[in-house]
Amino acid sequence: MKVAVVKESYPEERRVALVPAAIKPLVNKGVEVVVESGAGAAAGFADDAYREAGATIGTRNDAFAADCLLAVRTCGAGGEGWAGDCCRLREGQILIGSADPLSHPAACREAADRGVTLFALELVPRITRAQSMDVLSSMANIAGYRAVLLAATALPRVVPMMTTAAGTITAAKVLILGAGVAGLQAIATAKRLGGQVQAYDVRPAVKEQVQSLGAKFVELDLDTGSSETTGGYAKAMGEDFYARQREQLGRIIAECDIVVSTAAIPGRAAPILVTHDAVSKMRPGSVIVDLAAERGGNCEATVPGETVVVNGVTVMGPTNLASDVPFHTSQLYARNVSTYLMHLLDLGLPELSLEDEICRDTLVARGGEIVNPRIREAAGLPPLEAAATDTAS
Ligand code: NAD
Repeated sequence: MKVAVVKESYPEERRVALVPAAIKPLVNKGVEVVVESGAGAAAGFADDAYREAGATIGTRNDAFAADCLLAVRTCGAGGEGWAGDCCRLREGQILIGSADPLSHPAACREAADRGVTLFALELVPRITRAQSMDVLSSMANIAGYRAVLLAATALPRVVPMMTTAAGTITAAKVLILGAGVAGLQAIATAKRLGGQVQAYDVRPAVKEQVQSLGAKFVELDLDTGSSETTGGYAKAMGEDFYARQREQLGRIIAECDIVVSTAAIPGRAAPILVTHDAVSKMRPGSVIVDLAAERGGNCEATVPGETVVVNGVTVMGPTNLASDVPFHTSQLYARNVSTYLMHLLDLGLPELSLEDEICRDTLVARGGEIVNPRIREAAGLPPLEAAATDTAS
């Protein structure tokens, strides 16, 4: 099988799907790897390094001629570049990458219409044997780290307590909203910087994890008994719940120097946790980094992709922090995607093994159809069996 690494076309995307170190294991498995010239340059990986690892370097046309394409961003995650890429794809070609299928089912239909076999890495199930393929965790981990550094640099004060001959500086108060993968790394990073850290999550199960990192868990007077899905994600709650949550959080936010928010519900807009009113009550100079900006944001003042200053409070809405540290995020992504590809090859790719949970859950489209039930629902399509019956009758 010929596998290609395409150069990312999304604006300011600096990551690459495979780094040179990930090439050799694939070549040893009998895979021929072609890398589009310059694909790794922005992440610090030169064409020569890929050549030395056993890949060939080719043009974009060479890359798109391969049997299987690997990308960081494709389909719904590919932005405007997707239109150009999509029309190059051919029937039966395999496409693997972050595709944001739940938020952009229309792009998945375009891929399906081209007859492409599309695998979306966001859909890798959160099970132990798939941990090494979990791109969401890899990227969220780095984003959580980076968000705290951004906040610390924008803050007009230092983060740790300092006792000096010129007086004592108190530690900055840091609040992390949402203690999933990004939030837990943000807590760990803020603790390492010496901040006074507290964290809140709607899932009470994370309390112990927050405390084990040395942070205080914020408890609100809310019934959170039904807040978690069996998959470990947060459930969408009612508007009354969110209103009470915002009101209680507002009092805590007013005391904080840094707020990093990471709260998300898969496939939905991010819940609003920080209102305009809460921002107006923060001290001037305080900083909010809203990691949920790509999903609309957890803060009402967030402008996705921009930094705004509201009443002296800096509100940052980064939408692609993983791309700011492309060397390491590419390294992690490459490990995830190559482990995933090896897994599919072991199962017989290009044949598909739908008994396997990882293959089945990540497969979005094949044979001209969206075949994934979650994405069919998001696209407003009937379940496949129902569609078949409709056609037959
Ligand atoms: P995510 O990005 O979907 O959400 C981030 C956090 O926001 C979550 O912790 C969620 O509970 C929280 N949140 C949502 N609504 C909120 C609200 N209104 N107020 C406060 N917090 C709110 O989550 P994620 O980081 O992708 O992780 C989701 C789950 O998956 C976690 O339980 C994590 O431990 C688990 N996980 C498991 C594996 C594995 O077993 N392989 C791998 C990674 C993550």
